[in-house]
Amino acid sequence: MDSLLQKAYSPEEFRKNGHDLINLLADHLAAAQTDDSQKVIPFINAEESLNYWQEDFEKGTTDNPMALFSDILERSTKLQNPRYMGHQVSAPAPLAALATTFISLLNNGMAVYEMGLVSNPLERIVTNLLAKRIGFDENATGLLTSGGTLANLTALLTARAVQTGVWEEGSTEKLAVMVSEEAHYCIDRAARIMGMGSEGIIKIPVNEKFQMRTELLEEYLQAATEKGFKVICVVGSACSTSTGSYDDLVAIADFAEKHQIWFHADGAHGGAVAFSDQYRHLIKGMERADSVVVDFHKMLLIPALTTALIYKKDEQSYQTFQQKAQYLWSNQSSTEWFNSGKRTFECTKLMMSVKVYLMLKTYGEEVFTEYVDKTYNLGKRFGAIIEANPNFELALAPECNIVCFRYVQEGKNLNEINAKLRAKTLEDGKFYIVQTSLKGQTYLRVSLMNPQTEEKDLVDLLEWIGRFAEGKE
Ligand SMILES: *Cc1c(COP(=O)(O)O)cnc(C)c1O
Repeated sequence: MDSLLQKAYSPEEFRKNGHDLINLLADHLAAAQTDDSQKVIPFINAEESLNYWQEDFEKGTTDNPMALFSDILERSTKLQNPRYMGHQVSAPAPLAALATTFISLLNNGMAVYEMGLVSNPLERIVTNLLAKRIGFDENATGLLTSGGTLANLTALLTARAVQTGVWEEGSTEKLAVMVSEEAHYCIDRAARIMGMGSEGIIKIPVNEKFQMRTELLEEYLQAATEKGFKVICVVGSACSTSTGSYDDLVAIADFAEKHQIWFHADGAHGGAVAFSDQYRHLIKGMERADSVVVDFHKMLLIPALTTALIYKKDEQSYQTFQQKAQYLWSNQSSTEWFNSGKRTFECTKLMMSVKVYLMLKTYGEEVFTEYVDKTYNLGKRFGAIIEANPNFELALAPECNIVCFRYVQEGKNLNEINAKLRAKTLEDGKFYIVQTSLKGQTYLRVSLMNPQTEEKDLVDLLEWIGRFAEGKE
């Protein structure tokens, strides 16, 4: 080995850097939890940020990687701060983050059993547990994959394979999927990737609670059939991304069973209620879906990306990809759960099951229950606080930890004022919230992802927005 490689692989350097890094991160956690003056987001525009890093890069190599870690930390968004209330990404449990470093160093690739002697069995155990909590029977099975977007695409590919047999031959039929107009954009993207085009994505309108109007499914199916489309899948959102609305999965299941259409439930965010006695009722009917997606990196405390894709029928999960890969396995048609790559888009895949298994073994599934209950209860509480405040109004009564609301003022252009309030919040950095557009109206939006967020933070947020709106900030 030449000397650079020797240095890069030195166990002693690793030991020292590792201890220093843990100290840096532990200090960061402590500051995020206690330092009231910490900015959640140190916002600068993209060009400025690029210039900064370009200059840094041009300075050449450093012998102090800790200074670099520290700099990146300072300039990043702080999800561990309770005033982080933005996008639906977990503030990961620190133990699960440690597991990420651990699995990165081991780097067992998982595609075949020999490259995942532990991670393949752990994947089976954690997905079996999730399937059981959703309410599936022992014929169900699951896998982990890199994100809800990829998992939804994979499920639609399975739906197509099962419904049409498309694989050796390309599709000669015009295929379509039915989905609520509030579904995550990745469903639309997946359908287009699969060649369905915009006509093949049949968007079902939503009601005033932003749930799919399931009473329209029959009519839309008939119209599609008359136009020569074969509908292969109907997708229910549990919940939708913008407003956190849960579709009526029982009604969708009835419809799908009647017409023998694949029923896919997108529970990327809200499928986590499978671990909550208080909120499980929201996913009633999910156990009748042919496939279900749940992100562990949203509502289950795990760092990105870790997504479960559960199938009601084990054997169907092997129909998605039918090609042979002689150097990996000899027989594609056998149901070998332990060769991960047979059922996943990825070939090489992170040992993501370790993160979930470690959390379950250390804290029990009750840690998921506690988290879901706390954040969902807080969402509802925030709804009540907004309702009681004449300066604000809700877009809808929150069903979960996603809350859409806006500032209201007589005689003002509300879209303009709320967009301004969000921009000001971003620039200021004390809170991180986002915005969304619902039926042409601009709303402020929070996802209460951080388990340390308390009612007081939400009261402070409204007060801060109110002060700015009145020109006092
Ligand atoms: C976040 C989300 C997705 C996308 O998942 P990623 O893990 O971000 O790829 C899909 N569907 C819903 C309902 C979501 O909330």
